[in-house]
Amino acid sequence: MSIDIQTIRKDFPILEKQVYGKPYIYFDSAATTLRPVQVLNAVTKIYTEFNGNPHRGSHYMSNQTTLAYENVRDKVQKFINAPTREEIIFTKGATEGINLVAYSFGDAFITEGDEIIISEMEHHANIVPWQLLAQRKKAILKVLPIIDKGELIVSELDNLITPKTKLIAINMVSNVLGTVNPIQDIIEKAHAKNVKVLIDAAQGIQHIKTDVQKLDCDFLVFSGHKMYGPTGVGCLYGKKELLDAMPPFLSGGEMIDKVSFKGTTFNKLPYKFEAGTPNFTEVIGLGAAIDYVNNIGLDKIAAYEHELLEYASLKLKQIDGMRIFGEAISKASVISFLVGSIHPYDMGMFLDKMGFAVRTGHHCAEPLMDRYRISGTVRISLAIYNTKEEIDQLVDAIKKTVAILG
Ligand code: PMP
Repeated sequence: MSIDIQTIRKDFPILEKQVYGKPYIYFDSAATTLRPVQVLNAVTKIYTEFNGNPHRGSHYMSNQTTLAYENVRDKVQKFINAPTREEIIFTKGATEGINLVAYSFGDAFITEGDEIIISEMEHHANIVPWQLLAQRKKAILKVLPIIDKGELIVSELDNLITPKTKLIAINMVSNVLGTVNPIQDIIEKAHAKNVKVLIDAAQGIQHIKTDVQKLDCDFLVFSGHKMYGPTGVGCLYGKKELLDAMPPFLSGGEMIDKVSFKGTTFNKLPYKFEAGTPNFTEVIGLGAAIDYVNNIGLDKIAAYEHELLEYASLKLKQIDGMRIFGEAISKASVISFLVGSIHPYDMGMFLDKMGFAVRTGHHCAEPLMDRYRISGTVRISLAIYNTKEEIDQLVDAIKKTVAILG
């Protein structure tokens, strides 16, 4: 059964908006997706019907939010096929998840001279926390290179991994190139040498069925707002034996077992890593986003997005002077490009005035921009609510821009 895009589009009220008197055409889902009414309603319902701080109160509303909040933990567990619910930690996003591991795992297990490997196509969120960790611990950060078309040179890991290597942190999908990385191979190579692996699934979870048991990754992070959920919520999955061995990251209420002025003992998982009032509204909204994705079916979403990707790539390549960055064999629905010598900001500004939301700049991946010797690109990212007609309109708008600026 194929999906009915026009029905799906009705779930996203913001698509009815106009900007500058023109229909709003959204091609920036890799930055943040739009949210369907199902998610908006779930969030509104919390504030209007059962507001209460979870885990704390003994009153009815607090118990309701506790149940709803913990129910989402079960949903996430199922969604990524984690072995246990204790291994799901709610964070405010992928960035916080990576920082949690960099501080907590880093504190416990990284010492002077140890090595951490990242790749040339990482988002700053998966670079800077490791750089800071390396500085704190006098550790060494190594970089797995890519080839021009945007694929990792995975075989290079054989040279990069040494007995000092403790962790590889790598994205599932590049937010710039769209490359779907062979993370299963990378994890197998790493584990063969006793190296742990963190997967940054911020751009993967919404496109690819993720099974942490099959992958056997040690950590995996993602953000809710890139998978049709609310902002300010994300998840860290970590293997229980690792999370148990790691010290707390943020501290305060809820993450404790017993506090006295002599010292504190800590709560069990997952609460050890969830200090303070949780962002329960957003977590419950994330649950609605997972239901939304499950109801359509991630395989159907991926198939439709792939159709759009192929269509858009073909159409864009017909534009004179078009240069696409990222031509990996396995790609998710992200296309970065430049046309002739037109600056990406100029292109973005013209497209904006015609109603198109695209992303321009370095996409928080400056080392990758250096790799290609460019300052930035224009990026379109396609999601379940986009259509081929919108792509046609974008291509016309790019051609118009080229005619003016080129
Ligand atoms: N990793 C990748 C690959 C990303 O694209 C992003 C967001 N653009 C992040 C990490 C960070 O996600 P967030 O800002 O939601 O924490």
